[in-house]
Formats: sequence, structure tokens, C-alpha cells
Amino acid sequence: MTERFDVVIIGGAMMGSSVAWWLSRHPDFNGSILVLERDPTFAQASTTHSNSCIRQQFGSEINIRISQFGAEFLKNWRDYLGSAAPKPAFREFGYLYLAADEPFADALRANHALQTDLGAGTVLLSPEEITARYPMIDPTGLLLGSLGTRDEGYFDGHGILAIWREQAKAAGVTRRTAEVTGLRRTGAHITTVCLADGSTITAGAVVNCSGPSAAYTAQMAGLDLPVAPQKAYSFLFDVAEPLPLDLPLTITPNGVHVRPESRSSYLAGCMDAAGPGADYDDFQMDHALWMDLVWPTLAERIPVFERIKLRTDWVGHYAINTLDHNAIVGAHPEAGNFYLCNGFSGHGLQQSPAMGRGLAELIATGRYQTLDLSPLGYERVAERTPLVERAVI
Ligand SMILES: Cc1cc2nc3c(=O)[nH]c(=O)nc-3n(C[C@H](O)[C@H](O)[C@H](O)COP(=O)(O)OP(=O)(O)OC[C@H]3O[C@@H](n4cnc5c(N)ncnc54)[C@H](O)[C@@H]3O)c2cc1C
Repeated sequence: MTERFDVVIIGGAMMGSSVAWWLSRHPDFNGSILVLERDPTFAQASTTHSNSCIRQQFGSEINIRISQFGAEFLKNWRDYLGSAAPKPAFREFGYLYLAADEPFADALRANHALQTDLGAGTVLLSPEEITARYPMIDPTGLLLGSLGTRDEGYFDGHGILAIWREQAKAAGVTRRTAEVTGLRRTGAHITTVCLADGSTITAGAVVNCSGPSAAYTAQMAGLDLPVAPQKAYSFLFDVAEPLPLDLPLTITPNGVHVRPESRSSYLAGCMDAAGPGADYDDFQMDHALWMDLVWPTLAERIPVFERIKLRTDWVGHYAINTLDHNAIVGAHPEAGNFYLCNGFSGHGLQQSPAMGRGLAELIATGRYQTLDLSPLGYERVAERTPLVERAVI
């Protein structure tokens, strides 16, 4: 007997769990939902390697609106998760972008104009103003800073994931440990999901939430998806001397970034200079990066970081849309019941509330009902018209 589900979600980490949760509570949807996750420990998932931060400082309207909903979800969590759910932590320390050349300073100015038009709390800071606010930052060589004064910082993404999973289960969502190895397609319709144990499932619709493996999953249905894994490195370190005040998540001009983890420890990160194209199961650490790039960058910009001790480091993957570094969301034009939820670079955790809500609306009613996510549709990939985002970290 082949089982049948109305919606089969491939990947059960942040995005898969968000889509399942939103769909299970959508008033116009009363079908069956199955979430297939090959590894319930999420050992290779981006979600478990994330720095778990949210920002409003994006360079495109759609991404700003998506993050505004992310912040609204966190601040008014009771409206969404119910008052019985534990309050998700949200520490609003802001993001501080630092520019040391005119093109990037211009990009920050343009982003600032757009962000403030849309109601974000971004302020531009001269080097003198940066020093006045954050005396621990050495302003040498800086031209401009851009600081988010609200709705930016760390949030407990893992806590939200746990609540989504628990509430979806209570609402009747089936969750199974299984690896998807094939998708059968008849014309513009995916009919069957094939599993590694040889069994098959008939599906009304399929949602691709497979993170850095997204292109492999699409390929199973003979569809191209320009999403490739890029390694991202994280370094957790302790300071000898605690900083006198909270440091924002600070992005230095060479892309090395750092945020507070606790009073005496910080989390720094940087991307793999090789760019996208890593294997999704390549977790090899480049240990030279700490001594050669990350520590020198931090010590130069924040001199108190000369005396620090690396506690641990890890490698995760961004799922990069190689066209424009933005998400690809919605039905695939060549297979109308195959929904994409892919290519989130380093901002998928914060985008997960809006993505799950939008896809649930689309699947349940055939259209976006709240925030229109169609600028993120696959059509721009087919037409090769990038949605440019200048604020990627
Ligand atoms: C170092 C790092 C820092 C980050 N920092 C931030 C941040 O500060 N803020 C932010 O918003 N975002 C951040 N991100 C990005 C964010 O973590 C991701 O965008 C988000 O977690 C993506 O979730 P996902 O569910 O799409 O993918 P994943 O978490 O990768 O989940 C995909 C799941 O699909 C499963 N799967 C894949 N193929 C199959 C298959 N064939 N069958 C069954 N299951 C399958 C996998 O096992 C996996 O569990 C960061 C990422 C990294 C790596």
C-alpha cells in the first residue's frame, strides 16, 4: 500500500517546521501533512549551526518587510504561539555595519534611506559618533557606521523550533525520520515521493525545505535550482577583560563579524573565501582562519580583543542562491505542486516565520494573503533578473 498525504515537506529543521506549523493552523487547510527529515539530530542542518540573529538592515524592501514580521513575531509571541508557550529570548543589541570605502558607505546610505522609509530604526554614524557610542571600537580608516537601534539582535531560534514541532504534532502533523531519494513527476505535477527504504508516498503537494541540499532535491524531479552550499565559520571566545558596555553585532569592513554571547564571551564569524560550491557534508574546519584573519581583524578594530581565548569553533553551511543571494520561494513554474523554500544565505532563521506563513497561505488558498512574497519567486531566476541585496553577511 502506498500512503498518501496532501502535503509532504522534505526537511524538518527551521523552514520545514515553520511551514508545517503555519499550514496546520491555517483556517482554509484541513488536509494531511507529513514532514520527512533524514536526521532528527540535525547534525548537518544550517539551523543548528546558526548564530541566531535578526536584523532590519537589508537593502531590499521585501527583506525588510520579512524581518519586520520576524521581529513582530518575537515581540508578540503570545499572539502566535499562545500564552502557554515559553517566551522566546530576544536580546536587542543591534547590528553595526562599518564602512571603510566609499562604495560601501554609499550602499549603507542608500539602505538607510529605504529602511527608514519603511519604519526601521537605522541610524548612520560618523567615525566620531561611533567612538562616542562605543569607545571600545577603534575608528581608524572608517568612513561610516550604520546601526540598528531596535528589532535587531539575538533570538532563541531553537526554542521556537521546539515549540513549532510540539504544536504541529498536537495539531496532527506526522513527522518521520526518512531520507527522500527520488521524486516522480508527470508533466507539471509531482506525484510520488520515494524514500531510501524503498517505500513510496503519494503527495498532493511537495515542499522543498532541504536547506543546503535543496538543489539535489529539486534535481530528483528534474528541476534546476541555483542553490549551493557555502561554508561559514564560527568562533566562540572568552575575553580576559569584559567590555564596559554591550557590543552590537559588529560587521567589520572585511566581513568578519562579532556579537556578544554572554558577559565575557563573544561569537565571531566569517565566510569561506572559496564561495559557494562546497559539498553539503563537508564540515572540514580551516583552523588557520582564526590566527590569520579573525583574531587579527577583531584585535585591530576592538583592541580589548587582543587578550582573548578561543573556546570552540564550528563549520556550517549557508544555502546560497548563486543568482542574487536571496531566497527562492513559491511554486516552481515547471511543476505547480512543487513549492520552493530555499536559498536563505545567512538570514533564514529570522525569515522563517514569514516564509512559513507565506507558503501556508499559498498552499491553502493559492495566493499570498498577508505579505506578498512573489518578488522572491522562481520567475526571476528563469528570467535572470536578480533581486539585488547589498547587505549580505
Ligand atoms: C554559521 C551560520 C550562521 C548563521 N547565522 C544566522 C543568523 O544569525 N540569522 C539568521 O537568520 N540565519 C542565520 N543563518 C542561516 C540559517 O541558519 C539558515 O538559513 C536556516 O537555518 C535554514 O533552515 P532550513 O530549514 O532551510 O535548512 P536546514 O537547517 O539546513 O535544514 C534542512 C533539513 O533538510 C534535511 N534534508 C535535506 N535533504 C533531505 C532529504 N533528501 N530527505 C530528508 N531530509 C533532508 C536535512 O537533514 C536538514 O535537517 C546562519 C547559518 C550558518 C551556517
